[in-house]
Amino acid sequence: MLTPVWEIEPGTEKPLIVHVNATATGGGVSELLRGLIRHQPAGWAVIAGTADFYAVTKYVHNLLHGQADPGRLDDPALMRTYRSTLAPQAEWFTRHVTPDDVVVLHDPQTLGLAPGIKAAGARVVWHCHIGAVVAPERGPGAVWRAFDAELAALDAVVTTLPEFAPPHVRELFVVPPAVDPAAPKNRELTSDEIAAVLAEIGLTTARVAPGVTVTQDTPLPHDARVVLQVSRWDPLKDMPGVVRCVVGLPEDVHLVLAGTEPAEIPDDPEGLAVLAEVHDVLAGLSEAERARVHLVNISLKRPERNALVVNALQRRADVVLQKSLEEGFGLTATEAMVKGRAVVASAVGGLRHQITDGHNGVLVDPVDLDGVRAALARLLDDPALRRELGERARAGVLERYTMRRLAEDYLKVIAGAP
Ligand code: UDP
Repeated sequence: MLTPVWEIEPGTEKPLIVHVNATATGGGVSELLRGLIRHQPAGWAVIAGTADFYAVTKYVHNLLHGQADPGRLDDPALMRTYRSTLAPQAEWFTRHVTPDDVVVLHDPQTLGLAPGIKAAGARVVWHCHIGAVVAPERGPGAVWRAFDAELAALDAVVTTLPEFAPPHVRELFVVPPAVDPAAPKNRELTSDEIAAVLAEIGLTTARVAPGVTVTQDTPLPHDARVVLQVSRWDPLKDMPGVVRCVVGLPEDVHLVLAGTEPAEIPDDPEGLAVLAEVHDVLAGLSEAERARVHLVNISLKRPERNALVVNALQRRADVVLQKSLEEGFGLTATEAMVKGRAVVASAVGGLRHQITDGHNGVLVDPVDLDGVRAALARLLDDPALRRELGERARAGVLERYTMRRLAEDYLKVIAGAP
């Protein structure tokens, strides 16, 4: 059943706003909601689901990225699993919202609540954070057909990019995500604080710390140049491809791959397989190459500590990489950019919108491994260029992607009529 993550203070002005997503921790949407509720008087609840349900929603997620075979959607059992999980949870809203209120459903995991909430009379908004520009008969088109009844119940849709929207939307709002520069994930850290965090988790020492698992042959040397990718262990983030980048990079360059403990994210069932693939790639490297790759698995059970570790890693990095094969937006890039880091990112989805190649970062073709290595090597060898890109990146994020702006955009979504 639905679990409240954040209750609204009694006496909060109407309309009441309630966000609903699939998980309280792990991934960009929960990160976004954690920041947004500090700037917007809103409630937040998460749905419950079984492994079967999350297998369906991950498949739909991959379809929206244009990265799965739409054929399986024809199996009626699939939509039955999806709808029968969500329909009873819509009932929660009949007790918690009135017709003046607004419910914002995030991503495909929660879209199935729309008909039930609409029947309760509230304004229903679907905020879809993902998408891809592919031939319409592939992924997204098939999803729009299968979810026709759910889409018909929506009053409004919010997307990161206009091209991610389903057809025939009553009201469409294009709203990019945001970061909170003052949050534990992004706040300034001194070099001593960064060094202390990295020592405490065992990355630069051989220490074993609770809540963080570091897998490495030897600790990260203090004078190493560092390339970092922070991601869920999701096939679309291409963590195995990141490991392959170590081959041919200068010998003082180390790769740090940081990700959430896969077992802790219920709506992402592919994590353990991706992690196993990363270990396979590591096993195929020479001993010297393997010694330059460090895996950091961070538990989400203590969100503040996770935020501090990610913050310290991003600030320690000389270059932050986001080698995704598809990406709705890519908050990990935004977080690196607000810290003035030089970013190398794939020229896909939302990353392409955040970064102008050569201006505030570098864009690469994620399947061109030599091209990715060359971009990393060029930036690693040019501190002045890194500084220049990083300064423009930070200024751009503060102008375009702050929580204050997101909260203002949401006022329009709540009021209606874009
Ligand atoms: N993240 C984290 N710890 C990790 C890995 C990721 O806190 O070990 C956070 C990351 O900092 C970012 C979010 O998860 O805030 C990922 O968002 P993004 O938009 O990059 O990708 P998504 O996971 O939503 O596809």
